[in-house]
Amino acid sequence: MTPMEKHNALIGYKVAQAMQKRNIEGFYCQDKNEAREKALELMPAKSRVGYGGSMTLNQIGLLDAVRNGDYDLIDRDASRSPEEKRQMELDALTADFFLMSGNAIAMDGTLVNIDGKGNRLAALVYGPRNVIVIAGVNKIAFNEEQAILRARRVAAPINALRLKTLTPCVSTGICHNCLEDQCICRNMVITRMSSGHNRIKAIIVGEDLGF
Ligand code: SF4
Repeated sequence: MTPMEKHNALIGYKVAQAMQKRNIEGFYCQDKNEAREKALELMPAKSRVGYGGSMTLNQIGLLDAVRNGDYDLIDRDASRSPEEKRQMELDALTADFFLMSGNAIAMDGTLVNIDGKGNRLAALVYGPRNVIVIAGVNKIAFNEEQAILRARRVAAPINALRLKTLTPCVSTGICHNCLEDQCICRNMVITRMSSGHNRIKAIIVGEDLGF
């Protein structure tokens, strides 16, 4: 193991362990392949699966594995109209499993997530029987305050650039705390605990994934 791999494992395991007292089932996986297999192992065949917008889910190959596996995927990326997409997002709230990434995770296991529309946050808070959060070690912050700063100052402006929103951060690369119509930071959820023992499962991956 390289020093970086050792460091990732040390903090990844610590965060996964800290989650247990928050009713979040935490796991540490060394790389994206291990993370994908762990997520698949957690979901029984035939499960109805929804997901939120995420670079990480694609980077680890999880969405393709679910598409090609024995699952009932609510595939919002295959929707043919905004109305169909909205219906799929609503359907995902009653799924057996909801897949998402996280914008930031504090060392004490607190999750911080920001959304423009809010469908991902709605699913995280209530609805799906299980939520699987997958996050690279780059999402880990020292404490809750730093996690909020990471989500707002690092993740959000880069996501705005990815989505090409009409917001000032797209021109400057930094957050202007905007109130534009296309603001992607309309809602922020801090998950102190999972509602339901182990309803939320978090897989920390020893690689940089997403923003
Ligand atoms: S400028 Fe607006 S959209 Fe961009 S990161 Fe800040 S609050 Fe979010």
